[in-house]
Amino acid sequence: MTDTSCVFCKIAAREVPADILRETDRVVAFRDLNPKAPTHILFIPKEHVDSIADIEDRHGDMLADVMQSATHLAKTEGLDDGWRVVTNVGPAAGQTVFHLHFHLLGGRQMGWPPG
Ligand code: 5GP
Ligand code: ZN
Repeated sequence: MTDTSCVFCKIAAREVPADILRETDRVVAFRDLNPKAPTHILFIPKEHVDSIADIEDRHGDMLADVMQSATHLAKTEGLDDGWRVVTNVGPAAGQTVFHLHFHLLGGRQMGWPPG
């Protein structure tokens, strides 16, 4: 279901421009507008889901697709030294766009634990 007020639904529908790198039946991957690392790619389900806290059993194939797409793009981006996939849930974790998305970050040394 598309949320007409949601910017990521609009990117998936090609109503808002984005640098889209990969699209499958269930998932769209595009570069983050304000990258936090040399490679910063977002993976979203085409279906609007608020966050990972709202997934249901039927989303299993979509989640597998996200992880396979992230692995594929980490290779094509040349992130041979390492990379990270993260999803934020809720304001305290830093979620600012309430359409489920996974960040793929790489190309620099990562701190641990994340801030
Ligand atoms: P969050 O903080 O919710 O985990 O991550 C949201 C991310 O979406 C941020 O890294 C932000 O830079 C990115 N973002 C927000 N609006 C847009 C947009 O319109 N286009 C793109 N490509 N990225 C966006
Ligand atoms: Zn949405």
